[in-house]
Amino acid sequence: MDFEVVVIGSGVAGSICAWKLAAAGRKVLMIEAGPSVDRRQAVERFALGEKANDTYPMGPDQPRFHEPDRYFEQRGREPFTAVYEKVVGGTTWHWLATTLRFLESDLRMKSRFGVGQDWPLRLADLQPYYAEAEKELGVAGAALPPLPATYLDQQVALAARKFGYRVEVLPAARNSVDYDGRPACRGSATCFPICPIGAKYDASVHVRKALQAGATLWSETPVTRLLTRDGRVTAVECRRAGESIQVSAPLLILAANAVESPRLLLHSGLANGWTGRFLMGMAGQVSRALAPRPVWPFRSPQVVSGITQFRDGPFRRSRAGFVVSIGNDGWPDGAPPMVARQLVERGFKGKELQAAVREHVSRQLLLVSNCEELPRPENRISLSDQKDSLGVPRPRVHFALSRYTLDSIDESVLVHARIFQEMGASHVLHYEQADDPAHLAGTCRMGERGQSVVDSQLRSHEWPNLYVVGSAVFPTAGTAPPTLTVAALALRCAEMLAKTRSS
Ligand SMILES: Cc1cc2nc3c(=O)[nH]c(=O)nc-3n(C[C@H](O)[C@H](O)[C@H](O)COP(=O)(O)OP(=O)(O)OC[C@H]3O[C@@H](n4cnc5c(N)ncnc54)[C@H](O)[C@@H]3O)c2cc1C
Ligand code: SF4
Repeated sequence: MDFEVVVIGSGVAGSICAWKLAAAGRKVLMIEAGPSVDRRQAVERFALGEKANDTYPMGPDQPRFHEPDRYFEQRGREPFTAVYEKVVGGTTWHWLATTLRFLESDLRMKSRFGVGQDWPLRLADLQPYYAEAEKELGVAGAALPPLPATYLDQQVALAARKFGYRVEVLPAARNSVDYDGRPACRGSATCFPICPIGAKYDASVHVRKALQAGATLWSETPVTRLLTRDGRVTAVECRRAGESIQVSAPLLILAANAVESPRLLLHSGLANGWTGRFLMGMAGQVSRALAPRPVWPFRSPQVVSGITQFRDGPFRRSRAGFVVSIGNDGWPDGAPPMVARQLVERGFKGKELQAAVREHVSRQLLLVSNCEELPRPENRISLSDQKDSLGVPRPRVHFALSRYTLDSIDESVLVHARIFQEMGASHVLHYEQADDPAHLAGTCRMGERGQSVVDSQLRSHEWPNLYVVGSAVFPTAGTAPPTLTVAALALRCAEMLAKTRSS
């Protein structure tokens, strides 16, 4: 087996690197822990399943949203409820696909606001790669025409205007026109957990492109350890068809996400004192209400529009920036079957039941604010004493939200409440627990030697032929969801590696 590059993980970060390097003529092996996804079967599992997490093949060694203790060993004040997929194409199968660029201030938190950390990059360094990433992912509102705001968005915008809040269509990696061999969005409102027609980008796109460019994929092959000799990483040990095997290559790219990448480094004895630290997410405040008249959710992507003006300002010295998203997918605790069940219990049946379900569901409003979190060393991934099914230590998680984030959660509740009130909505509920399941960052931060895990080229400070790609390298979490920046950094890293023959 004669590979020049081994990429661990086939999510958006890994598959973009594999594709770029294979296209540059390198012999690339992508090693992926999970199986390939059959879209039709996944849609069927989603339609028949109880929970969104039932959609994808689920192995024993991954987190489950409703059972946060099952895979993670929880050591924090609150349970860390992150979810991610272990399948070919990774978590983008499950994502919502909102793709904002970071702001310059997201990369300069220390110098502008005296909190967090500055990135070793400027926004200008990323801009060309953002443009390329928007083209690769097919971002509506950037590389493609924007999607239209929904009727519900327009009703929220009317109320929001009273307070000077501007509602705008958010960029999203979702085809607004047929593009890159994939169809335009049909508005079925199931983007997460799955787009039935592939209008939403998922990284199976770049896995396919990598294979077409000559890369090899080993799926259902979890990597269990990285092996070293004379200051270099020489091989990876993985489990393939029940056998433990080793594969070597002069260049290794670790793209296993912000939990699994540090876990592998720690378990392999390749960690430095910073590995696993500064775990971050984006805390989410969810609020729902019932509009006085139908606003017709469920007829578009789950989110099309939002409010971005709270991302930045001098307030970030003391509290977090946040983005408000307008949900077009109704209440988390009021999906149509749930509403029907409650109405049946109250004695509704037949046509009367149908009308009552329609009347309730068509008025459901949802607002979600995602607040940035600061990097704190005590929030971290380390190794548990308990082992996974392959004998590798499970991730131990220490995590708690800071006052900095919680104060903006409170501020977002005020914003949501004002909008609901102006709309004349009733049944307002601001969910108590700020959830953090989707966006991960930190744990292998980039920066200067002695203060971080990788440099600004994403190369390990200690292991010169090892690179880490993905949101693990973010020094701060920023006010945008992570994935467009993950893709931009992967493109930048792969371009640099493609130019250097030996690394
Ligand atoms: C519900 C939800 C909604 C989201 N919405 C958004 C959004 O709107 N916008 C946004 O920007 N982001 C969103 N995200 C986050 C986004 O999905 C992730 O940022 C992105 O998928 C990360 O890509 P990645 O390639 O770094 O990691 P992943 O996609 O997690 O891929 C890592 C891959 O590595 C594999 N792997 C792990 N360990 C090993 C091992 N030991 N050996 C071999 N393979 C291994 C995994 O199986 C996986 O396939 C959302 C996430 C969720 C769950
Ligand atoms: S609304 Fe439907 S078709 Fe459009 S991206 Fe979402 S799941 Fe796909």
